[in-house]
Amino acid sequence: MAVDYIYDAAPPAGEICRMDCVPGQTIGWIYMPLPFALDHVNLWLLGDPDEGPLAIVDTGIQSGKSKAMWQDLLATTRKPTDLLITHYHPDHIGLAGWMVEQLGCSCYMSAQEIDQARMAHAASDEDFASGQTTWYRRHGLDAERITEVSSLGNTYRPIVSGLPQDVVLLSAGETVSLGGIEWQVMTGGGHSAEQICLYSQQLNVLISADQVLPRITPNISLVWYKHGGDPLATFLSSLDMFRDLPEDVIVLPSHGLPFRGLHPRIAHLREHHEERLELILRSAKQPVTASDLMPVLFRRELDPRQLMFAMGECLSHLRLLTNSGQLITESIEGVDHFRVATAA
Ligand SMILES: [Zn+2]
Repeated sequence: MAVDYIYDAAPPAGEICRMDCVPGQTIGWIYMPLPFALDHVNLWLLGDPDEGPLAIVDTGIQSGKSKAMWQDLLATTRKPTDLLITHYHPDHIGLAGWMVEQLGCSCYMSAQEIDQARMAHAASDEDFASGQTTWYRRHGLDAERITEVSSLGNTYRPIVSGLPQDVVLLSAGETVSLGGIEWQVMTGGGHSAEQICLYSQQLNVLISADQVLPRITPNISLVWYKHGGDPLATFLSSLDMFRDLPEDVIVLPSHGLPFRGLHPRIAHLREHHEERLELILRSAKQPVTASDLMPVLFRRELDPRQLMFAMGECLSHLRLLTNSGQLITESIEGVDHFRVATAA
């Protein structure tokens, strides 16, 4: 079922678009371009246009362009006092260190997200290369592709300006006042460990971050630096936290256009993963590796960065199927192979 978009298009880059669907236009939408296949991220300015405190949600990546854009934006408005970072991915946290320095603002995050950010930021190129080489070898990628991926080194640090020293920790169930608005803090796993979403009953608005997106499905990866757990099962169960939100809640996603239709969209996300799981089960009558499944799940050429996301996504599905007993794993010459549990 299609979602119900509230606007036909995003605002021009570098402007604060006051959202007239929100009472008092107390949310400003900032569209920031990104130099990736996913070519933008939505950032939010919370608070009354004319008076009271202002808060920023997410920053975009570190780059000369995004800094210049923020400098122009901040020249047109009162000084924000608070910054909330939804999760540690670079398009959300990239300028957090810089922003705190510029504004002297407080920075709010969840505990697991700041820990993950600090770990990724501190890792050396060699840590990345050796961790990835071991991981992708174990999952059947050929040497040439492993070199392509591992030679990227630490892809995180160059697009993150540094991290705030002091962070105000938030956790699920708390209420926080940002931009003079009371927000209920929700956190979801799967896309990242403890991603913050914000819900305002008063405004009937959900800032969904990357947990629910209108057009693409959030990347759910089992990754080399954190390969315990079951991120897809975690993600699917985390969607239950939205169950009691109103049918007509306005959803502000980090990518794509604001929309109504949260519940149909969540149903669609669940179906998408069900289909993927089915497809893998059909493909695993004989033992297969994650690498074997790349052309089955992704029918396009993948550059090294996309290959990392694709392998992670495939492995999260394999993990769920293994944990639920539908697949069994065996290591053949050091490479993990998966096959349907009932197959001869
Ligand atoms: Zn993300």
